[in-house]
Amino acid sequence: RGDFNSKIDYVFKIVLIGDSAVGKSQLLARYARNEFSLDSKATIGVEFQTRTLEIDHKTVKAQIWDTAGQERYRAVTSAYYRGAMGAMLVYDITKRQSFDHVVRWLDELRSHADKNIVIMLIGNKSDLGSLRAVPVEDAKEFAQRENLFFMETSALEATNVEPAFLNILTEIYRVVS
Ligand code: GDP
Ligand code: MG
Repeated sequence: RGDFNSKIDYVFKIVLIGDSAVGKSQLLARYARNEFSLDSKATIGVEFQTRTLEIDHKTVKAQIWDTAGQERYRAVTSAYYRGAMGAMLVYDITKRQSFDHVVRWLDELRSHADKNIVIMLIGNKSDLGSLRAVPVEDAKEFAQRENLFFMETSALEATNVEPAFLNILTEIYRVVS
């Protein structure tokens, strides 16, 4: 499609959060452009990217924000969260610390973001199974307890990236429609 008659019914803002180097920028590159880079500096400075899709016969534009490295200085500002209807909270399944920090990111979200925000926990780098430091069951239990959606993904292999974004976008649609 993409013809000039197509109109946008909804714009959904989604923010990516989580520790540095967990793969947020590469998940976005994979979803928005079907690209992946081993060079993490490649996407620094990008504010957000969009992708338009159909949900329930409506045209939805997903506007997905990336922290562009601010997470290193804990400088993610409230402007970043403003108007966000969804958050993807990403950790790296090979880095226990990035999972331990998920609680902090949740606190941050719950103090800055709308209380109806849809949150999806993402365990990224599932292609590195031999280096796994976070059992999938731990993450599932945590997600259940905290009322989060959960999926493991690989931006590198493009595993579950589409389903993860489709899942969060569909849940947001349910909230607003
Ligand atoms: P960010 O700081 O959270 O935005 O992380 P980046 O997207 O910059 O990724 C950090 C590093 O992890 C880069 O070297 C990426 O190539 C790598 N990376 C990202 N996603 C994956 C993945 O799914 N699998 C593997 N093996 N590496 C990944
Ligand atoms: Mg990044």
